[in-house]
Amino acid sequence: MTYFADLTPYTYLERHEDEPGLTDEPWPDLPLLNVGWLDAVHPFPTGAPPDGLMPALTDLAKTRVRQTRGYHFCEICIRDIGGDAREAIRLGMIARESAEFQVQGNGVVYAAPQLLLHYVSAHEYLPPAELCAAALGAMS
Ligand SMILES: [Zn+2]
Repeated sequence: MTYFADLTPYTYLERHEDEPGLTDEPWPDLPLLNVGWLDAVHPFPTGAPPDGLMPALTDLAKTRVRQTRGYHFCEICIRDIGGDAREAIRLGMIARESAEFQVQGNGVVYAAPQLLLHYVSAHEYLPPAELCAAALGAMS
C-alpha cells in the first residue's frame, strides 16, 4: 500500500469505469477521494473521534471493496516495534487488512483502507471532518 494525502483523488487501483460488470463499488459513478491511507513517514491528524464514529465506520467497513490477495500490515505498528518486525508479523501482533471500504459523501465517495478502523482506534488518527460527517450520516 502507498501513502495518499487525505481528500486527494483516488488513483490506487483501477476503477473499471468502462466495465461496470467488473466493479464492486457501491457508487461507481461518483468521484473517489482518498481517506486514511497512512504510512509510518507522513504525519497525520490525531484527536478524539466524534461520538459514534467508530460504530459507524465499523458498520460501513462490512462492505468490503477491492479485496486483494495479499495483506497490508500497519506500517505505524511496524515502525513502533523497531528493528525486525517479521517475528511480530508471524505471531499475528501486527494489524493487517486486504481490502477497502467506501463512504458516500456529498457528490463524492471516500475510499478508505480497512485499516482505517485500526488507525482510529490504535493510533488516534482523526479522519477529515467531511468523512466523519458522511459516516455518521450514513448511520441514520
Ligand atoms: Zn498500527
